[in-house]
Amino acid sequence: MRIRQLVKLSSYLLSDGGISPRGKNSYTIYFSNNDASLVDNFQIQLKKCIHKEGYKSLRKNGSTFVKIHSKNLAKELFKVSKSYRTKACKNNPICPHIKNKRPAHINTILVDGIEYPAAEIPVELLKKDKTLAKDFLRIYASCDGGVSVSAAKNKKNSIFLVRKIFIEVAHPTLKQQIYTLLKHLKYNPKCYKTSIRLTTKEDFIKFHKEIGFIKKSKISKHSKNFVGYEKNKVLKMLIDSYNNPQNLLNLLLKN
Ligand SMILES: [Zn+2]
Repeated sequence: MRIRQLVKLSSYLLSDGGISPRGKNSYTIYFSNNDASLVDNFQIQLKKCIHKEGYKSLRKNGSTFVKIHSKNLAKELFKVSKSYRTKACKNNPICPHIKNKRPAHINTILVDGIEYPAAEIPVELLKKDKTLAKDFLRIYASCDGGVSVSAAKNKKNSIFLVRKIFIEVAHPTLKQQIYTLLKHLKYNPKCYKTSIRLTTKEDFIKFHKEIGFIKKSKISKHSKNFVGYEKNKVLKMLIDSYNNPQNLLNLLLKN
């Protein structure tokens, strides 16, 4: 298995997947998403790593679930990150290690008194390999992030646009590392409690040109505006709106 392929696979798993213990010493590697283009791309990436596509099934909530059992692949993936669980150990579903069962991670860290699995991204490797860093971020931002724009009013009652690219990330190590990586690539990220955002015109243009989202990945139903629109298209609309805000405002105010 080549390290670059594994690192890309790790981005899918850290955002919308995971690794859970299976039996005495094997593991199940899984990915779940509502977006067909992301599921397809995960399976392509899985095939590059172990020449198998995994088993695909449809869940009751409408999402697609892909899983594969492999001790070897899990072993390789744990070299990239000591955990693929990113929630605090005590959050639901409670981490098996708290119940003294076989854990789904190798180490834990303590941040502000809260125990987290030691999830991480290979930030030193990514700093040296900018192409891989951009691939990693494209996958992460497509799975657990997106682009949004809304209309707001200022004190003088005139309407303006609030634009952002966001990556949802609550795990303290991952958040810090993604922030560092974006800084290293000369972006101006801003940290929020459970997300990182890009908010400037320069960053939108740079992200569109250098990173972008996975082709055909769409804005999910949880978003207020532009449900079902391709993320890359909305990003382009958002950039174009600096020259012509009225088009986008008309669209927003119609909804
Ligand atoms: Zn744990």
